[in-house]
Amino acid sequence: MLNRKKPEIVDAIVVGLGANGGTAVKVLAEAGLKVVGFDRGPWLRPLEHYSGDELKFVNRDYMWPDPKMFPRTVRYDENAVAERFPFSPLPQMVGGGTNHWAGWVPRPRESDFMMRSLHGDIEGASLADWPFRYEHLEPYLTKVEWAFGVSGIAGADKYEPHRSKGYPSPPLRPTQYGKRFYDACNKMGINAFPIPHAMVTNKHNGRDPFNQTSFWNQYGDPSGARSNTLTSFIPEAVATGNLEVRAECFVQSVKLGRDGKATGVIYIDPDGNEVEQDARVVILTLGAIESARLMLMSKSPRFPDGLANGSGLVGKNATFHEYLFAVGLFDKDIDEPLNGFAGNYISGGSLEFYETDESRGHIGGSIISASQTCHPINWVFPGRPTWGEALKDADRNYYNYAMKIGLILHDLPVESNRVDLDPTVKDAFGLPVARITHSPHRNDIAMGKWQVDKNVEILEAAGARKTVPVYLDKMTGNTCHQHGTARMGADPAKSVLNEWGQAHEVDNLFVLDGSGFPTATGVNPTLTMMANAWRCSEYIAEVYSKGREERLVLSNSMR
Ligand SMILES: Cc1cc2nc3c(=O)[nH]c(=O)nc-3n(C[C@H](O)[C@H](O)[C@H](O)COP(=O)(O)OP(=O)(O)OC[C@H]3O[C@@H](n4cnc5c(N)ncnc54)[C@H](O)[C@@H]3O)c2cc1C
Repeated sequence: MLNRKKPEIVDAIVVGLGANGGTAVKVLAEAGLKVVGFDRGPWLRPLEHYSGDELKFVNRDYMWPDPKMFPRTVRYDENAVAERFPFSPLPQMVGGGTNHWAGWVPRPRESDFMMRSLHGDIEGASLADWPFRYEHLEPYLTKVEWAFGVSGIAGADKYEPHRSKGYPSPPLRPTQYGKRFYDACNKMGINAFPIPHAMVTNKHNGRDPFNQTSFWNQYGDPSGARSNTLTSFIPEAVATGNLEVRAECFVQSVKLGRDGKATGVIYIDPDGNEVEQDARVVILTLGAIESARLMLMSKSPRFPDGLANGSGLVGKNATFHEYLFAVGLFDKDIDEPLNGFAGNYISGGSLEFYETDESRGHIGGSIISASQTCHPINWVFPGRPTWGEALKDADRNYYNYAMKIGLILHDLPVESNRVDLDPTVKDAFGLPVARITHSPHRNDIAMGKWQVDKNVEILEAAGARKTVPVYLDKMTGNTCHQHGTARMGADPAKSVLNEWGQAHEVDNLFVLDGSGFPTATGVNPTLTMMANAWRCSEYIAEVYSKGREERLVLSNSMR
């Protein structure tokens, strides 16, 4: 229904109040800017809505986007018709992915920011350096760790680059499978450590600690100990009096003025009205798939192929970090139980194989980590029977005697791996859905194979009686990590955003989620994204909004 109204102009609009939008509104509102934050989903209350109820959260899609009303499509061949598939779904609600994430927050490495300088042109890939370095991000990694609440041990990861401060919270105790992982790594001379987690284990910023392992990944946390922008950054921004949250409001386009600047957004409010909101700055933090989709849907005579898309790169170079793993099965009659009921908390990890060693036949590397094989009802291992006596036997024999060592595939950017608008499939609002086209680079396949095989060796050293490797077949978006669809860079012909996440072609448009990542990194990306969102939001508040401009000086050396 058309019912356009125009409330007063605000300093900034933030579209999408997840990990990065939550960070942006905190920084902007605390700096005194008047901000309206939009989220297409509801504003839930953890104590009332969240629990460890597996059927509700895992089987009944309580937090996942409805695949019928808001589908995505995917194809693995340029000439194929894309099929509906829940590719890389993230919770569509205030707090976004942080509502039910696992919350591993390792830091990126110096090499992640300069893949092109280190490796040159790799055939078939579109490697690019970041327009800033680890040292530029480091102060913001620290700010997020302390303001958001992260547990870990500084120095335990012997390959971590310089950090200016330790962690605010100590790590949780190792789980049974964590202990097996540490023992095996010890035997093999691998540096293993508790992966930093976005949760507080001591009293921190008025939040109570949580000291039990439990069902983290895919469940909302009623206790507030797991760090979530819904329960931390967003209420902190609201408390300044400078943020108005508009939940259940779907932003469908960004408006462009005659002067080539963004003037605001058009959104569908909870009653189905189409409404305009004007602002001096528009910030997109919808996640790298939906931010690209919104830009591509925001067409104008100046940008017929989508907003700020003169380079044609919006949606391209998408990377997704497939999760690959090896499962180890132990013997119930001989081995100690692994206590699967302790949940899917990730206990130990390592970055031993992160940096390039070309003798392995690939460049780059990934974080690896030990975990349980998932929830009690929906737990999986390859070949698990699905029905009857065989299923019951498998559950009895293995639920408590199985573990995984997984990796986050550091996939290389390829220009043709992309998000665009599906030509036929529409969502519940009648808008074209995001279509993903993907084919892995040969380096992705080689890296995945090498690391899964190494994980098998670690499981064997841990005493596994049987191991099952799971290699890369195709990209399914199973980590829900999204990057690259509006890459940052210095050259407007080769990138969409500059080093501040600011569109080269639309001065007051900023994209502050993973869209800007020129390369994927091999670690869980959200800490890096949030630190970058903080850094760029500070720039918006302290420099851009004051009519100034600033450039970063790059050093090209790794310490
Ligand atoms: C089960 C699970 C576990 C994960 N575990 C980890 C982990 O351990 N470590 C890690 O680093 N990452 C993890 N992730 C990934 C992490 O959640 C994402 O990287 C992160 O949430 C991305 O932040 P974002 O702000 O870009 O997007 P989101 O957090 O998804 O926020 C985007 C927001 O935009 C809103 N939105 C979208 N479209 C519109 C629109 N048109 N109008 C208005 N609002 C809109 C959405 O409702 C959403 O709230 C996990 C993800 C999942 C699903």
